[in-house]
This record gives sequence, C-alpha cells and structure tokens, in this order.
Amino acid sequence: MNINGTRLVERLHNMAKIGKTSKNGVHRLALTEEDKAARNLFVLWLKDLRLDVRVDDFGNIFGRKEGKLSHLPPVVIGSHLDSVPNGGKFDGTLGVLAALEVIQTLTEEDAQHDYPIEIAMFTNEEGARYATPMLGSGGMTGVFEQEYVYQMKDEQGLRFIDELKKINYHGDKEHRLQKIKCFVELHIEQGPVLIENKVSVGIVKGIQGLSWHKVTFIGESDHAGTTPMNQRKDAFVSAIKAMYLLHHWVKDLGDETAITFGKCSVNPNVINVIPRQVSFSIDVRHPDEETLIKRIGKLKEIILNISTDDDVESQIEDISLMQPVQFSERLVRELENLSRIAGFSSYKMYSGAGHDAMYMNRLGETVMIFVPSLKGKSHCEEEESCLEDIYQTVEVLYQLIKKEIVMVE
Ligand SMILES: [Zn+2]
Repeated sequence: MNINGTRLVERLHNMAKIGKTSKNGVHRLALTEEDKAARNLFVLWLKDLRLDVRVDDFGNIFGRKEGKLSHLPPVVIGSHLDSVPNGGKFDGTLGVLAALEVIQTLTEEDAQHDYPIEIAMFTNEEGARYATPMLGSGGMTGVFEQEYVYQMKDEQGLRFIDELKKINYHGDKEHRLQKIKCFVELHIEQGPVLIENKVSVGIVKGIQGLSWHKVTFIGESDHAGTTPMNQRKDAFVSAIKAMYLLHHWVKDLGDETAITFGKCSVNPNVINVIPRQVSFSIDVRHPDEETLIKRIGKLKEIILNISTDDDVESQIEDISLMQPVQFSERLVRELENLSRIAGFSSYKMYSGAGHDAMYMNRLGETVMIFVPSLKGKSHCEEEESCLEDIYQTVEVLYQLIKKEIVMVE
C-alpha cells in the first residue's frame, strides 16, 4: 500500500464528530452550522497540504496543487460533505477524504506531475435540505441556472443564497471548474452488489437512466354491498393488477431494469365504497437509453391493455426523464488493469443512484470507484464499510491519479 490508511481513517473519525448523532451517524444538512464546521475543517486540511483554496458562486470548494504545466486542465478528485437527516459517516465524506489522502501521498513522495491536481467538494449533493440533488455540481456545470439555485427554499422558507452567505462560503463565479482532464469520484456503493459478490473494488461504468410516471385508473364509485361483483368498475383492482403484472414482467426480464411503485392514492378511500379513482407512481430505471425508452413503451402498453380489459379509463403522465450517463471507457479499463495488478478483486457495475460525477461527466472524462457497503445499507446511521475494502479502493484511486497526472507523449 502506498496510501496511509490509518491517517485516512483518523480524518474520517474527526469529520464524523461534526453533526454526530446518538447512534454514530451524521446529521449534516447543506449550508447549516454543521456543514460550515465540516467545511472549515476541510479547508484547514487543504491549507495544511499547501493547496490553493478557492470557492465558487455555489459554495463548491476546490484545493489545487500546481503541475509542471499549469495551462493544462486539472485532474480532479472529490465528492461531497453534506448528509441526509441522520445519515451515515461515509456517504460523500469518504470520497473527499480519500482525495485528500491521495494528494498527501503524492506530495510526500514528491511525485512529478504535468497536470494540476484539484480536490473538489460539492454543495448540497444530497438534495435533503434543498430538494434538488447535486445543486453545486449541477449549477457549476450549467445544468441549473444560478438564479434557480439561489432562489431555492428549504422547508423553513430559507433561501439557498442567504444561507450560503450566512456560512461564509459564497465565492466567485470565476472559481468554477471549466475544463478538466478527468474527474474521479470514490463513493460507497449504497447497495448490496459488491458485498454479495465478495469484491473489494467497484468500477462504475455509468449511472442508470431513470423515468418517472403517474398512472391513474378511473372507474366508478358504488356501494360495496349492493353492487354485484361482475358489474363493478373498481379502479383499485385495475391498479393492483397493473402493479402486479409490471413487477413480474420486469422480474422475468432478469436484466438491469428496475421498477418501483412508491406512491399510491385511492379515491374516495372509504371502507365501504368501491374506489373510483386510483393513482400510483412508477419509477423505472435502466443504464441504456434505448432500452429504457423501449421499457417505457411496453409498460404503457400493459397499462392500456388492462384498462381495455377492465373497462376503466386510464391516464399516464410522464413526470421526468433522466438520461443514463456513460463514464469513460478508457478510465474503466485503467481501473480494471490497476486493480488486477494490485491483486484486488473488482467488479464492473452501474450506479443506481445519482452522484456529482454525473454532472462532472459534462466537463471531461469521468469515472467512479465504489467501496462495498456492509449489508448494502446507506442513508442511515448503520452505514458501514470495512477498512480493508476502503484501503484497497483508495489505493486504486491513488494508482489511477498517479497515472493520469503525467502527460503521455
Ligand atoms: Zn453521496
């Protein structure tokens, strides 16, 4: 190992003290006093490493180590420090501290590099306080207008811009990252795939696309006792049938498609009245755009068929579509090679969750490295990863960055 695992874990413990919950989790919502304290500690560490610190207009923080050729775009590593309410101490933070560890290791061995290296910490990744996730990286890369981000309000009605100024992290637009050579984000997997496959290093090929819909069945309300069973137009029964058929259709596909019905409303929602109108949500995901579109077409067909068979009306509303993101195939190959050379087991996969890397991908070649999550748990206080897996993934990150910062003739 080239990296210093003990030092990394020590920083992780110190960071976890900020916003610490009773069950050893972390409660550190974006732009709060806890977030401010975490940022201050992070900036202190950046300065200890003699990095040039700058803050952009969304409060994203960067630390830069100049290379031999300062006109070259930087190699960037990083993640986020905010958490969900009562979240874990690894989500986001591990990626930021892994970046620090990599830069410190490179500095201590006096590694020569042509490209500048930058560490990045993005604001409001979780979308827990300001409801849009990845506001900092999305704002910086032009996905969101500055005004849209600034005017966003939390549940108390407090605006993003006011809260950003209050914690003293409102910087300059000129400090945003523009062009990059590449971006690498290390993050916990937040799912059970790596643990189940007994693998240490997750290599992320991209981020799944996701599409949201609202389905409504409209039948007829009637008396629960006097309406014969064969004369009913029960919207709830049609909705259940739709969810059941869609669930099993996707399960039988046996591929990377995932479908979830997370919300449902029944009208009139009375014990002795046949439901007239039922709406439910569909969240459908797939890493390949063309396949995702095909799945959406098929699911609409299944719903229409049910509505014809049951003689009830149906409506399908498209709420949003987030296109899949493909990361750099070159960097995926590099990570595979480096893991193999180091003797670590690795596994290629897609991310089911969004990350800052999704937007950074717009600025240049991007890839992610996943650390196995024990029991696949995250966004909770029980979130945990084993030290050996952390050391191995951070070592692979170090190996990759060490290669990327040197110009190839
Ligand atoms: Zn995260």
